[in-house]
Amino acid sequence: MRFRMGAMAALLVVAFPVASSVAGQGAGQGAGQAAGQGEATPQQGGAKITGKVYTFQKIEEGVYYTTSTSLTNTGGNHAIIVGDRDVILVDDGTTPAAARALLEDLKMVTDKPVRWVINTHFHYDHTDGNSVFGPDVQIIGHEYVRHAIADLDVAHREPLKTTMTNMALQIQPLRQQIVEEKIFERRAALLKQVAAIQADLKELRALKPTPPNMTYTSQMTLRQGQREVQLLFLGRGHTQGDTVVFLPKERIVCTGDLMESRLAYMGDAMFDEWITTLDALKKLEFGTVLPGHGVPFHEKSLITAFQNYLSDFMTKVADLRKQGLSADEAAQKVDLTSHKTDFPQILGPGAEVRGVRRLYEWMDERAH
Ligand SMILES: [Zn+2]
Ligand SMILES: [Zn+2]
Repeated sequence: MRFRMGAMAALLVVAFPVASSVAGQGAGQGAGQAAGQGEATPQQGGAKITGKVYTFQKIEEGVYYTTSTSLTNTGGNHAIIVGDRDVILVDDGTTPAAARALLEDLKMVTDKPVRWVINTHFHYDHTDGNSVFGPDVQIIGHEYVRHAIADLDVAHREPLKTTMTNMALQIQPLRQQIVEEKIFERRAALLKQVAAIQADLKELRALKPTPPNMTYTSQMTLRQGQREVQLLFLGRGHTQGDTVVFLPKERIVCTGDLMESRLAYMGDAMFDEWITTLDALKKLEFGTVLPGHGVPFHEKSLITAFQNYLSDFMTKVADLRKQGLSADEAAQKVDLTSHKTDFPQILGPGAEVRGVRRLYEWMDERAH
């Protein structure tokens, strides 16, 4: 497979040592939001094949969407694009263990090797599998992804920090339940749950954040025989370097966390720019969206609904700030329940606190 660059593209091949760990998402839930079971079984599409850790849903000949079906913390969902000779993997999970499990389960679908990994953005739940790939695999991300992983100490910042704190906090109550549980099967299930969290935490503590070894800034095209796979930077949004992966012939777009089928984490958001970037996304000619979390969907109206949510979020939080509320107080109070038809994870007033803190920061950045 060869790649060619778009007219505007600048490509940097970055030599990288296998180094430190990656930060990521772990959106966590805020006031008024249900615990995100966004990785639920996809609702539509083709046959499903279930392995030890992952389920593969066939979207199109050679295109699969995977979701986790085990207790292992695996991170974002993946798109897998199988060509004549090799495989493109979109995002590689929360930990090296998750990435290894994915490669193992992938054998059910294809015996071809993964040659290309695309990091849709820098968050740990999309990039922390990077370290398992050898130098023969091109790990491609936007130039900002390389910068973030190499320079921003992602292993000790959000969103990974809160994820690890929350995981550790789950253990004690589970242990208490184990002591009290009389039914053997339930006790065994609880023990398994604790063991899975402990194994994940051990992996997360030992992470070696590994940046992409190939970066681009505007657009880039990969070719697998007849298939064209475009990597597009449409503008800043969920982070400062989100890639969408677009298959024009198949009319499929993989959006990472720039557009999920549920509310995305906003701790690194570039709010108004995000709305503009989603306008650019809607201009692509696609019929299916494979998001970084949630389920595949087809309607551009869901993208508009998320833009409306973002816009309302900005207005309402700004109002609360004007009334003198701190970010944490605003996160408790902001009422976005009018969006719960589109985003059923909204259960009542309130929003994820890191998103609100980020918006306060964003307003300050804007003011200067
Ligand atoms: Zn993310
Ligand atoms: Zn994510």
